[in-house]
Amino acid sequence: MHNDEQKYIQISGARENNLKNVSLRIPKQKITIFTGVSGSGKSSIVFDTIAAESARLLNENFSMFVRNFLPRYPKPDTDAIENLSMAVIVDQKRLGGGSHSTMGTITDISPLLRLLFSRIGEPNIGKAHLFSFNDPHGMCPDCSGLGRQMIVDMDKAIDMSKSLLEGAMQLPDYTVDSFDWTMLVQSGPFDTNKKLADYATDELEQLLYGKAKKMAVQFGGKSMNITVEGCIEKFTNKYIKRDLKTMSERTQRAVTPFIIEGGCNSCNGARLSQHTLQSKVNGYNIADMSAMEVGKLITIMESLDSEIAKPIVTSLVERLKHLVEIGLGYLTLDRETDTLSGGESQRVKMVKHLSGSLVDVTYIFDEPSIGLHPRDVNRLNKLLQKLRDKGNTVIVVEHDPDVIQIADHIVDVGPHAGTNGGTIMFEGSYEQLLLSDTLTAKFMKQSMQLKEQVREPIGQLVIANATKHNLQDVTVSIPTGVLTVVTGVAGSGKSTLIHDVFLQQHPEAITIDQSAIGVSTRSNPATYTGIMDDVRKTFATMNKVSPGLFSFNSKGACENCQGLGVVYADVAFLDQVKLPCEICEGKRFKEEVLTYTLHGKSIADVLEMTVEVALSFFTQKEIVRKLQSLSDVGLNYIKLGQPLSTLSGGECQRIKLASELHKQGSIYVMDEPTTGLHMSDVGLIIQIMNRLVDAGNSVIVIEHHLDVISQADWIIDMGPDGGSKGGQVVFEGTPVQMAKAEHSITGKHLEK
Ligand code: ADP
Ligand code: ADP
Ligand code: ZN
Ligand code: ZN
Repeated sequence: MHNDEQKYIQISGARENNLKNVSLRIPKQKITIFTGVSGSGKSSIVFDTIAAESARLLNENFSMFVRNFLPRYPKPDTDAIENLSMAVIVDQKRLGGGSHSTMGTITDISPLLRLLFSRIGEPNIGKAHLFSFNDPHGMCPDCSGLGRQMIVDMDKAIDMSKSLLEGAMQLPDYTVDSFDWTMLVQSGPFDTNKKLADYATDELEQLLYGKAKKMAVQFGGKSMNITVEGCIEKFTNKYIKRDLKTMSERTQRAVTPFIIEGGCNSCNGARLSQHTLQSKVNGYNIADMSAMEVGKLITIMESLDSEIAKPIVTSLVERLKHLVEIGLGYLTLDRETDTLSGGESQRVKMVKHLSGSLVDVTYIFDEPSIGLHPRDVNRLNKLLQKLRDKGNTVIVVEHDPDVIQIADHIVDVGPHAGTNGGTIMFEGSYEQLLLSDTLTAKFMKQSMQLKEQVREPIGQLVIANATKHNLQDVTVSIPTGVLTVVTGVAGSGKSTLIHDVFLQQHPEAITIDQSAIGVSTRSNPATYTGIMDDVRKTFATMNKVSPGLFSFNSKGACENCQGLGVVYADVAFLDQVKLPCEICEGKRFKEEVLTYTLHGKSIADVLEMTVEVALSFFTQKEIVRKLQSLSDVGLNYIKLGQPLSTLSGGECQRIKLASELHKQGSIYVMDEPTTGLHMSDVGLIIQIMNRLVDAGNSVIVIEHHLDVISQADWIIDMGPDGGSKGGQVVFEGTPVQMAKAEHSITGKHLEK
């Protein structure tokens, strides 16, 4: 009996956020998937209860002294959690790390590659560390291993169509009538009336890059000896070669717009010293190999015929194959991690753990299917199973039916969102789930019909000959006045086409993404959408006082907690505790403010209302319109005063959508708007897109979700594969045409 209990993580009486005192058990060394509508409480169980408790337990292993330096984790609101092992969260937070962190370094593949070169590189230059651009002896001395240099942005710095007198120089020190400009114009050798475009090559060279020389000039009626130097040369020496950060803020602001990054002239971006780059394996140096797509690198590794290198090659190939298995075969090892998308970052982290030797770990995944084309979901599934089979417990929050299918155990949270959720609706196997009457089961059994009556476009926006990243001279038209879905496997070039090319040409387009909104801890849905301003005015008019009184950011704020509603008690050697403010009892306002009411409710009561409740309370037109927008995007359940920092990415995205819904004639770009959405909510987001289009807007969506693709007016499918094997438009047309298309991988999945 005792033994059997240890096979489960047992959670009793969990009450974080909206959880209604729930108890459940999660089988160890199995895959458990949490499903349920957005806002039902999945994260509250998995992250705010399980992961939080694990982090807290881990901290308790340290001495009180050390603990003072660690982040502090309050105990989750739960009666007990038993048999928890160390939890590792594999989420979509972008991998930071600056330019010294690359795919190769983060996956620990680069150290192996360096080891390989130190053993069999021809000629052999020495120890493995010499092959690292993070090592002082290996790095290119001219760019310190960055592979890039800061250079003057010539397009901004000079205007070739003007003469010196007309102000051809745009650089801060050379604006007309400045000291340097006057010197330049008066120093003699240059024709000040001639357009720079008409200068002879050597003349221009002297003006821009001429070496410093002393000469006498007439200035203000006096003769002066000065040093004249090419202006780009001078700017480079004066600002770029010095540490800008040590200069005044004013100087930095004036100068930075003229500086851009360019490749390093010495190493051409290879980051390594010339000496290091001489060493080769199979004709390639280590920078060549790092710049190869992983798929190609595997082929080369497998062709190596060396006994000494065999063990290294074996583990290199094993790790590289993990990258391919997870659908990242199109990346290169030298790719900087901060340029990876959220989904890619998550998959890279996964590879790191797969290659590691930790066992009995609880791995927690947050929607790992994000950014993955249906084709690649199978690969993801295999990796999750591999982690489990190594003896780990795998917990996944996921909406994708193809992932849910592989669960050993499923927990469905619901029935709805917010206060209408927070209970366990179902626990059991996949087969049992399908027989249950949960919303999840209902939606898994029904599928969308392909849209047949598509809208006619009102115009076309043309992208011509795009070549950024992997795009292969792409020319494509994006119809306006309709719903366009851009799809294709990961790495095929969707984001490059839309974010890097289309949005550059159409900066007026409105991008709605999932990034967090509201930097301030004081922002909430009411302040973000502007409802709060209207509510304050209404309170002020009814009570004949100033509207400022009803703001917890200013006059109305409780003085004890400055309007935060909580106070932080910092007890030495103990976890920092967040306590509700005892003066305002968490209501954030001064007592006096709360005596003013509207139909019996104080301003604090209003902030506690959900959107749904507020809709039946208010009658003021503007307030109702804004509340209705929130309701229309499925946020009925959120409280007007809930801090934006506590909303999920999907909820943030929908709040942004809600505050845009009344616009017309705009172009909207959305990137995977179904992220974080349960199948039952996807229909809602499609409705919103349709509303935007019907109101006269153009909507462009990057999406893999087949339900969204099936409802498009126009589909652009990128492919055929990722990286250098992608970058082409493989299909353009309607959903019905796509399902019949021969060459489209997406079409095959749509047909199913
Ligand atoms: P899910 O993961 O199923 O989408 P969550 O567990 O994130 O749902 O959220 C459950 C409910 O709790 C939602 O109404 C959400 O807005 C609310 N919530 C989440 N975090 C907080 C928080 N820190 N403070 C207040 N409410 C929160
Ligand atoms: P998708 O959006 O279809 O997943 P992307 O447009 O992100 O594809 O990527 C297309 C190709 O461009 C891939 O080979 C990817 O590695 C490359 N790429 C994307 N962003 C960058 C970047 N910042 N630097 C270098 N290569 C990039
Ligand atoms: Zn260099
Ligand atoms: Zn207070």
